[in-house]
Amino acid sequence: MSNKLNILLSYLKFRHRHFSTRKKLESYQRKKIAKHLRFVTKKSGFYRKYAGKKLEDLPVIDKGVMMDNFDIINTVGISRDEALEFAVQAERSREFDPKLRNITVGLSSGTSHSRGAFLVEKTETEKWAGFVLAKFLPHGITGHYRVAFFMRANSNLYKSVSSKNISFEFYDIYADMEQNIEKLKRLGADILVAQPSALLMIAEALENGRIDIHPETVISIAEVLEKEDEQRIKTAFGLDVIHQVYQCTEGCLATTCRCGTLHLNEDIVFIEKEYIDEKRFVPIITDFERTSQPIIRYRLNDVLVEKKEPCPCGCVYTALEKIEGREDDVFVFSGNGKEVRIFPDFIRRCILFSGNIRNYRIVQQKDGSIIVYSDIDDEMKKNVLSEFAKLAKDNGFASPEIKFLAYTYDKNRKLKRVERLT
Ligand SMILES: [Zn+2]
Repeated sequence: MSNKLNILLSYLKFRHRHFSTRKKLESYQRKKIAKHLRFVTKKSGFYRKYAGKKLEDLPVIDKGVMMDNFDIINTVGISRDEALEFAVQAERSREFDPKLRNITVGLSSGTSHSRGAFLVEKTETEKWAGFVLAKFLPHGITGHYRVAFFMRANSNLYKSVSSKNISFEFYDIYADMEQNIEKLKRLGADILVAQPSALLMIAEALENGRIDIHPETVISIAEVLEKEDEQRIKTAFGLDVIHQVYQCTEGCLATTCRCGTLHLNEDIVFIEKEYIDEKRFVPIITDFERTSQPIIRYRLNDVLVEKKEPCPCGCVYTALEKIEGREDDVFVFSGNGKEVRIFPDFIRRCILFSGNIRNYRIVQQKDGSIIVYSDIDDEMKKNVLSEFAKLAKDNGFASPEIKFLAYTYDKNRKLKRVERLT
């Protein structure tokens, strides 16, 4: 089948899929999982011994286990060394959409952990493209759209989506942002897809009157979209909703509904929740659409915050208040000989409660001390220190050493407002 036909079929499937009750969704998931496990226990050496078992009998794995057993987990016969070597080579030459024996190989980056490789088959990418179109095209597939897509590299996949009525224009985030903005000014966009750091730069250009564009849909990808950044982007673009795709190399986990609420994509992934408090959880994912590199009970190191009130859109998929960030980015302090863990949200508040601070990064160093990167005056610095002192007192840990430096961030890395070096 051609690319386009596959994408269209997938689009139609996802666009019209609707579960009226949670029960119906769960029964659908059970069927998909059972079918998927039959495939995986047949095709993956790692899972062969679990033939006939239930999902809960299979081991929970993480990135370490995935990479250590890469060769026997994947079902397409690609070894880890081969995949890594190939992906590094492709990244170096900035080759777009690298393919190894017709399989897309990517590197997972952005974390302090060891490098990981991931594999995606052509049919899986087409399914994904159909899924994304189904979720976000405001007037369906027959509408006319100019899509401006900020990404790390151009990809053949998106070219394949281009048709008479949908055009994709790519913006390389490594290129000069001023030039990108000039190009955007020239070409305009109905749908703008970019990471928050790029969206913020475009928002600034809008605020200064340097460009005048009115996309109907803005989609934030790849980095955590902080509430206050979201608000600023909304205001600059004059939109009520900024859409989000929460995606990692392990799959597309959540997307926003028309109300702007993130919902887990429980029609493609089954998610077990490892609760760490009454609403925060670490997701353990089973992707029942992914076949080349099975993702079965894979524990991510992200912390998600569940929304307790139902979303007005009526969708039965779990609603999220937000993506808190990496589990590794939970700050660790010591108090009375114990370890005290503080979620990024509370760290962020120390800055937000200190005054009107737009650009900042708070990084906990390996020795436990904190560096605040922000261009703020002495008065504001004093406020930040007193907010941290209050946080320490309330949570019973010793006040950390805090240093202030000018705001910087490396645009080759993901923007993270709150980060712990490990
Ligand atoms: Zn909703």
